[in-house]
Amino acid sequence: MTDTIDDPQARAVELREALTEYSRLYYLDEPTVADADYDDLMRELRAIEEQHPDLVTPESPTQTVGTAVTESTFAAVEHLRPLFSLDNADSITTLEAWMARMTRQLGEEPKGFSCELKIDGLAVVLVYENGRLRTGATRGDGVTGEDITANLRTIEDIPKTLDSESPPSLLEVRGEVYMSFAAFEELNKHQAEAGLRLFSNARNAAAGSVRMKDTSVTATRQLGIWVYQAGIIEGGPDLSTHTETMEYLGSLGFVINEASERLADLAAVEGYVTRAEKERHDQAYQTDGVVIKVDDLDLQENLGFTSRAPRWAIAYKFPPEERTTKLRDIMINIGRTGAATPFAVLEPVFVGGANVGMATLHNQDQVALKDVRIGDEVIVRRAGDVIPEVVGPVVATRTGDEKVWSMPTECPFCGNPIVRPEGEAVARCTGGFECPSRLREWLFHFASRGGLDIEHLGYKTIDLLLERELISDPSDIFTFDTDRLLEVEGWGEMSVGNLRSAIDEARERPVPRLLTALGIRHVGSTVARRLIRHFGGLPALLAASADEIAEVEGIGRVIADGVREWADDTENRTLVEKLEDAGVRMTEDVDESVGDVLAGVTLVVTGSLDGFSRDSAKAAIEERGGKATGSVSGTTTALVTGDSPGAAKVTKAEDLGVPQIDEKIFVKLLEQGPSVLKG
Ligand code: NAD
Repeated sequence: MTDTIDDPQARAVELREALTEYSRLYYLDEPTVADADYDDLMRELRAIEEQHPDLVTPESPTQTVGTAVTESTFAAVEHLRPLFSLDNADSITTLEAWMARMTRQLGEEPKGFSCELKIDGLAVVLVYENGRLRTGATRGDGVTGEDITANLRTIEDIPKTLDSESPPSLLEVRGEVYMSFAAFEELNKHQAEAGLRLFSNARNAAAGSVRMKDTSVTATRQLGIWVYQAGIIEGGPDLSTHTETMEYLGSLGFVINEASERLADLAAVEGYVTRAEKERHDQAYQTDGVVIKVDDLDLQENLGFTSRAPRWAIAYKFPPEERTTKLRDIMINIGRTGAATPFAVLEPVFVGGANVGMATLHNQDQVALKDVRIGDEVIVRRAGDVIPEVVGPVVATRTGDEKVWSMPTECPFCGNPIVRPEGEAVARCTGGFECPSRLREWLFHFASRGGLDIEHLGYKTIDLLLERELISDPSDIFTFDTDRLLEVEGWGEMSVGNLRSAIDEARERPVPRLLTALGIRHVGSTVARRLIRHFGGLPALLAASADEIAEVEGIGRVIADGVREWADDTENRTLVEKLEDAGVRMTEDVDESVGDVLAGVTLVVTGSLDGFSRDSAKAAIEERGGKATGSVSGTTTALVTGDSPGAAKVTKAEDLGVPQIDEKIFVKLLEQGPSVLKG
């Protein structure tokens, strides 16, 4: 966009044109900017219009809902009542301002609010006559939508006939069609297998799926719906609040989101919003905020509507997790197993609470499937603790100068060939540990929590040690002259002392951790524990034949051959000798009593425990042959709940009938196994 900042009128025209075009493409499921970027422009336009009310036009995107249906393959449907958008709040202060506005209008503060998750999907309206589904439509511009009745009929959660002997003669309800993350991932897996384009997120996948021309395709897409509003109820009971209305709709067979709560006042609403934001990544589906509605229907009527949104409701938006930016380059990283992973070098962008300049592209096939090209505008996501990723290119803004990327044939770090063996998903550098990138990643893995857990030894320090040639393999970590770090700016007696003690502590780590740290292919923490429990230590394991290794319970031929091959390599043997000379523990008094008491048991831990950190609880479960996972599902044996557990996990466990246990029972479970859960 050109620089029209000093001319509000010109800027308003420019913003309106841009927003209208973005909106048109968005509703055709071809968004060209991330929502947060669209919202920023909308905010800018709103600010100009507030300062210069004479510049407001009736067709400005600030005054209208959605976009008119002009290029649809579906028939147009006139809505019985107009459908609206929602005003947005992005902070508690804006919520308070909303409250103040309503108080001014009503002459008193409204009490009683319905707080609901703002589901990120596609708004639809369903009309029932005498208990039968007559039409289902998209929102369109709020007045006219698209007739997608046949598609909506394929969604199991949408009742085709209402669950009532005396249904209302006319019922119009609104809801959000969505796709769960699990369904979204499965869909993209199928798309990838079929070589088809991947959907960039669950919202776009839901919106695209529900508007398929071929309804039999929609039927395969595992869509759900949350109903959140009644537009018209004729011939139904007298209802005085939104909450009652939702309960009534629930009784007719509609699915109402279980996270909805009625709360008394703004303080309670703020609590809900904070909690919902904290738990946003625990949900099984995409949410982008909380919708807050005045619960009393009379008050709603008094407050009324602006041209585009009700005054009695507001959408509190979570901070954005997606932004649009430029993809400057695609480079590769070589991992500790030699795997070459492409990553994106981006024009830095603030997203998900951090500045992001790099993002993963997962693997070579994903770059091709997403058709991401150097020079593209791309949408970048950073959600919670997950590393930033490029979700996809904005194809519509291509100029033709973008470059298709291909995997380099030579390693940029060591110059050795990069080869992708037939039938394998991953290309690898053939350079061994002479490849500096591979060595760096190996050292990082060795010292990481999954390995020997050496505190203060992350990438930054490893880079420093490599740069100063103080280490060249993991055994050097235990022998290098730590005092040499005192020459480096920022390092003092204290920091060097801390690192030294962390290294000393790591000498005594349980041997399975050392074995995992060595990074032998296929040997993760569970396999390592089994092997060490059987052989009692590293020397005996490395002296064993492949047949002897394969005899260990739970160890297959592939692992046995992998370990043997590793042990036959002289460099590896020298490394183990050096580690032994450096005083690193090599043998274990095998505690058979721990055994595999939790074999076949899957636990989820939520909230904080007194005697365990998240990691140590996980380690305790895994040491006993159990599995620790992050989300509750049908295969979860029990949910361990500490202080302030995640509400979504608790609800899910309740729904699925998964037992919930406290820390005391958890400790017993670790000692005695799943029999403690019975009785
Ligand atoms: P909105 O999404 O901010 O809010 C209104 C919608 O919220 C409703 O129509 C409904 O579908 C949904 N909703 C979900 N849960 C609800 C609940 N419990 N109660 C009530 N409503 C609920 O506003 P909008 O006008 O629908 O669309 C604007 C959104 O679309 C913004 O997020 C914007 O970023 C995005 N958009 C993006 C682009 C783009 O190019 N990326 C273009 C246009 C619009």
